[in-house]
Amino acid sequence: MNNDMMRRIPRVDTIISLDRLSQIRSETGSAVMRNAVRECIDEIRRDIIEEKISEIPSDNEICAMVVRRIKGGRPRSLRRVVNATGVVIHTNLGRAPLGDILSEGLIDAVSGYCNLEYDIEEGHRSQRNLHVEELICRVTGAEAAVVVNNNASAVFLALNSIASGRRTAVSRGELVEIGGSFRVPDIMASSGAQLVEIGTTNKTKPSDYIMAVEEKGAEVLLKVHTSNFRIEGFSQTTDIEELSEVGRKYGCPVIYDLGAAFVTDREMAGMHEGGSVRKSLEEGADIVMFSGDKLMGSVQAGIIAGKKEYIDLMRNNSFMRMLRPDKLQLAVLEETLSRYLDPEEAAETVPVMKMFRAGAEQLMVEAASLKEELVSVTDGQFSFEAVYCEDVAGGGSLPGVTMKGAAVAVDSAYISVSGIERLLRKSDTPVVSRIAEGRLLLSVRTLCPGDRQRLIRAFEELNTIVKGE
Ligand SMILES: *Cc1c(COP(=O)(O)O)cnc(C)c1O
Repeated sequence: MNNDMMRRIPRVDTIISLDRLSQIRSETGSAVMRNAVRECIDEIRRDIIEEKISEIPSDNEICAMVVRRIKGGRPRSLRRVVNATGVVIHTNLGRAPLGDILSEGLIDAVSGYCNLEYDIEEGHRSQRNLHVEELICRVTGAEAAVVVNNNASAVFLALNSIASGRRTAVSRGELVEIGGSFRVPDIMASSGAQLVEIGTTNKTKPSDYIMAVEEKGAEVLLKVHTSNFRIEGFSQTTDIEELSEVGRKYGCPVIYDLGAAFVTDREMAGMHEGGSVRKSLEEGADIVMFSGDKLMGSVQAGIIAGKKEYIDLMRNNSFMRMLRPDKLQLAVLEETLSRYLDPEEAAETVPVMKMFRAGAEQLMVEAASLKEELVSVTDGQFSFEAVYCEDVAGGGSLPGVTMKGAAVAVDSAYISVSGIERLLRKSDTPVVSRIAEGRLLLSVRTLCPGDRQRLIRAFEELNTIVKGE
């Protein structure tokens, strides 16, 4: 613990008597004020002990904390933030933003009771999956579909239902770690599938799969989209078309863990890379699974689409009870899918689609006008410049793919760039930004409606704090 910092924490009375708090002091009375200041000082003390901070917040920052505490009641733990990082599918920031997919009709449907597992016509029990199955089939061209809580569950459920106790061939180049502790060999082991490793890290050919079936007794073929890294140079993979041919010839089901994929086609998002659920099914995959909150731009979910005989196995698997989605997930999925019925509507109204489609020139115009507004609400303590930057899809979805975007670059002679970054995170609506080449970048691609105003307010606040130092 840093004793020197502990000694420098301001006294409660010192903070209470600051001018900046005089108005709110007269509005709330001194007891409320004293309490709020004590709580803030306690929080700072805790942060020092836990080494979350390396310098004492300035008096002005402490005042801002006190005002927030008095006005805000208990702050929400899960709350809105502004994503100015240029990472569209930001896993730490909740992946896909939902925007007006959360329509009034949707909120009305889940605010009270709803027919989650109830057939209104017949007046008896029904299945929750039915609310989305037909839509998934129409959008992806699949014969049948089932939804689980997330794609990691989808992989587990598919393997457990189709490959348990059976030898399952996977390319050595696809035995990947998706993130956290989700590793393909481990998930296969826990699902009961017996891994048959084939090919090499950089090359796996159709003949390797054939050898696995003929010589090693493989009965299931699994392909995993290597979604968070790419191999360049001397490399070869077997695509789903070739793999399906092998599967058909030997009567082996072909399972494709796509993870991040566009539901219909990538051109819809204006992208030249990225897999497609519809296309993978057309090319012969028996089962495809993907995340709802990656390139699809919806809620967290694992969507499994493909042949009815396999989907039925999953539906009837007793693990389904542990992995089933909640009504909120299904409501959001239903709304998103119904927009994908008309790809043009989805391109215009699914927030991540709009973000992918935004061109560099249009973003530059937005960055330039944001820059003007930021200049107008600050007193020359910051320098702003509209610049081109590189944005990414994120969420381990399109490795190595960058999109040309635009940002407002911020610098200051009065406060360090890391100081600006830290204070932006602490504003009313926290702003998450990035630092590149010594400047702070506010990428405009990932701003949601209303975020511009939030950013401007954050800088007004920052301006007062810096001016007071
Ligand atoms: C992201 C991903 C997963 C895990 O999906 P979640 O929705 O995060 O559970 C599994 N496989 C692949 C290939 C992925 O890209």
